[in-house]
Amino acid sequence: MNIYDFTLEELESFLVSNGFKKFNATQIIEWIYEKNVKDFNLMTNLSKKLISFLNEKIYFEDLKVIKVEKSTLANKYLLELNDNNKIECVLMNHDYGYSLCVSSQVGCNMGCAFCESGRLKKVRDLKLSELVGQVLCVSNYEKVRISSIVVMGIGEPFDNFENIKRFISVVTNNKMINIGQRHLTISTCGLVPKIYEFADLETGVNLAISLHAPNNEIRNRIMKVNRAYKIEEVMKALDYYISKTNRRVTIEYIMLNGINDSDECAIELSNLVKGKLMYVNLIPYNETSHFELKRSNDFKIKRFYDILKSNNINVTIRKEMGGNLSAACGQLRANQEGCEK
Ligand code: SF4
Repeated sequence: MNIYDFTLEELESFLVSNGFKKFNATQIIEWIYEKNVKDFNLMTNLSKKLISFLNEKIYFEDLKVIKVEKSTLANKYLLELNDNNKIECVLMNHDYGYSLCVSSQVGCNMGCAFCESGRLKKVRDLKLSELVGQVLCVSNYEKVRISSIVVMGIGEPFDNFENIKRFISVVTNNKMINIGQRHLTISTCGLVPKIYEFADLETGVNLAISLHAPNNEIRNRIMKVNRAYKIEEVMKALDYYISKTNRRVTIEYIMLNGINDSDECAIELSNLVKGKLMYVNLIPYNETSHFELKRSNDFKIKRFYDILKSNNINVTIRKEMGGNLSAACGQLRANQEGCEK
């Protein structure tokens, strides 16, 4: 088994069930995550018996960087998994530190009309080691400390919920990746039952929702998931999340020309979020050659922003970081694989 497929608690029970001590797990984890040692033979405080057991049962396996696209504000990495599947992650250099956007699945079945990742149908969920591996691989490759993580790359994280829960445990454990809960954000397209489950975990982890439309008519056209979970149900689930966690929810809204960028849409969206602990992030769309959808022009985006502002909505326009790379998430992999719909 790959060592990165264990949470601390799982390693503790694995060792105890094999006759070793619980504290051995912490010793091993400290070598790996704090000292970056990837050879059990070099872990000098472990017994010979334990080292030989570990060498027999557990191995170290990292992800491979196979392509990097760099720009001033963001680098995009194409990573290869051990079954040759490929995923992407993006490192962004903010004023407050490095932030990594990680993928949660190989491909995605949610089929959002504007999304390059959705063209690559889901092949499988990422394992814990592949979620953690993205963080370790990029921070080792660039020799930087990553201070925040968003799970917003390829895939729907809540469709890989169990591994995302374990990932949260590894990321936020101060002996492992050690990033505070408030610096970790999970983004969902709106799988309502999982929003409730996530809320019930009562972590301080942030939640972002890809809403992208202020009503069901528009959302049905651009997001298949809306046929299963209507906007009203999503908003009710978000209210529940806020009541349980008192955390502010981010509403992601991609600005699509002539689809969701009218004044009426801005008013409708304002009414939807008004008075709630929510903040709207307007995202200029990254056009791709594969879709007819176009990006709203800067004037429209500013006007939409102003209408939300005048309705006292917390709103920002997302700084574009990936536009001059292979544009939005999924494109580096799609280009590499010559993907066609
Ligand atoms: S936007 Fe997210 S949920 Fe929708 S298809 Fe793309 S990766 Fe999947």
